[in-house]
Amino acid sequence: MSLRLDYSALSDVGRVRKNNQDSGYAGPWLLAVCDGVGGAARGDIASGTAIGELRRLDEDPADRELLGLVAGSMQRAHDRISDLVEEDSALSGTSTTATVILFDGSRIGVGHVGDSRAYLLREGVLSQLTHDHTFVQSLVDEGRITDDEARTHPHRNLILKVLDGSSDLEPDLFTLDVAPGDRILVCSDGACGYLADERLGAILGEGTPDFASVELVRASLDAGSTDNVTCVVADVVGEQTDLSPDLSPLLVGAAAELPRRTPSRHGIFRHRDTGELDPIRADIPAEAGGAIASDPIDPEEARYAPQPRPRFLWLRRILSTLLVLGLALMAAGLGGWWANQQFYVSDSSGNVAIYRGLQGTVVGFRLSEPYRTTNVSLDQLSSVDRAAVRDGIDVTSLDDAERVVQNLYADADPATPDSTSDSASGSSGAP
Ligand code: MG
Repeated sequence: MSLRLDYSALSDVGRVRKNNQDSGYAGPWLLAVCDGVGGAARGDIASGTAIGELRRLDEDPADRELLGLVAGSMQRAHDRISDLVEEDSALSGTSTTATVILFDGSRIGVGHVGDSRAYLLREGVLSQLTHDHTFVQSLVDEGRITDDEARTHPHRNLILKVLDGSSDLEPDLFTLDVAPGDRILVCSDGACGYLADERLGAILGEGTPDFASVELVRASLDAGSTDNVTCVVADVVGEQTDLSPDLSPLLVGAAAELPRRTPSRHGIFRHRDTGELDPIRADIPAEAGGAIASDPIDPEEARYAPQPRPRFLWLRRILSTLLVLGLALMAAGLGGWWANQQFYVSDSSGNVAIYRGLQGTVVGFRLSEPYRTTNVSLDQLSSVDRAAVRDGIDVTSLDDAERVVQNLYADADPATPDSTSDSASGSSGAP
């Protein structure tokens, strides 16, 4: 059975921030939310760029592997951000979360980095599909704080994984079978950071995707969200379900090039727009709908704690290469010194000889050289000794080698004449 998606998307700048750094997308095959990070480093550019790349996924995946498509697209978005920073160093530090869902008619493939979230509402039960890559989530995982405490933790904004074009991209990737009646939500932390699951599920369970997305944004702002808020809602429907004839792909938030302020039938927004609430009067208390005091330090500035791009990368690479070469030379030097302390007894042109080094060859190179050739001919030796010498006799030291030679000499048959004279490099006398 081939299923379809009925979807809606909405993004709002919120009541505090001047810019919307969230971007969202909803289409027949693709749902995605990116929450730009970086404050002055223009998170809106990161999220808009990422969605611009990710939206290319919005086509029937057919038999292609869902997670491969998602991972590839996320990597390209990551690389696009890298290119942007390369071209304009003022963008250094810009980054974005990315929660991406690709649908193939029966399953979804999910790719995720950051703290935007994907949820599934199935038969009235809400499940969070993604796992936040945040500092506070790691504390929750370790059992050190609760979910509720995480919601108000002073470092709740700190993200550990993003698309930033510099770090290695390691998204969570998984697939899930879907069924008619399932409802999917993808949202930025401006929504899920302010609405508890119970409230989120209750709102998500009502009305059409269009209605649910509007209500989720409204409720997030009413709950005190000081952030941009983006919600993408999609229903999984059967083939026979009639979809709105004007249902077309939706691009919202920073990724939408021309934001419009058009009242919707719900009174605030019209979907497909980057909606913005009417200006909030500063002289009205927040609880009465007035402005919420901004944090003295913009938390967005410290959100990802972006790692500065490495400076003097070329110099680091040269130094690293030199270090590796130095270590290799040192290892070779130590190996050579050690080999120079090794000896064995073998045959040199028919005479017993002491060799310095290691028996054998490496890629055609001998690892030893004659240290001393004695005047003991192999012809004087017993067949057993002769074979042993030809095979090479291992010794523990030069003294040990000399003892072996003395023993061979002692066992040699003096009736057999020498075949050579002593050609030692520094030896004299018998043997
Ligand atoms: Mg946010």
